Amino acid sequence: MINILKSFIITILVSTIFAFIIEPFWKTFIITTLLQFIIFYFFNTLYQGYIVKKAMELNIQLENEKAKSTVTLPCPSCNYIQQVEMSFNKTTTYKCDKCNTEIKAEPNVKNYLTTNPIYVEK
Ligand SMILES: [Zn+2]
Repeated sequence: MINILKSFIITILVSTIFAFIIEPFWKTFIITTLLQFIIFYFFNTLYQGYIVKKAMELNIQLENEKAKSTVTLPCPSCNYIQQVEMSFNKTTTYKCDKCNTEIKAEPNVKNYLTTNPIYVEK
């Protein structure tokens, strides 16, 4: 509420200054006030669009971070075991901490049929 009042006072002040500089007073005052409202309306619309875009980008980033997970993998060359941060939706390339070999790790998900015990009553 205070912010709205402050904005309104500033708008009136700017309009008054312009009205004193450019004659006639009331015509300039009304035109400057309207122009300020129009300019700020467009500015706010653009700014809101920017904020929404930024929020969406952050959300995508967050989803990507969520999909990441740490896996313990042995090096195929020297067998050194290390923690590798990888995503379950893409292939990860990393370097072995011991022998510096470049290694490619692919997410491998297995699925099984669950076996439910069958109870046969006699
Ligand atoms: Zn290695």
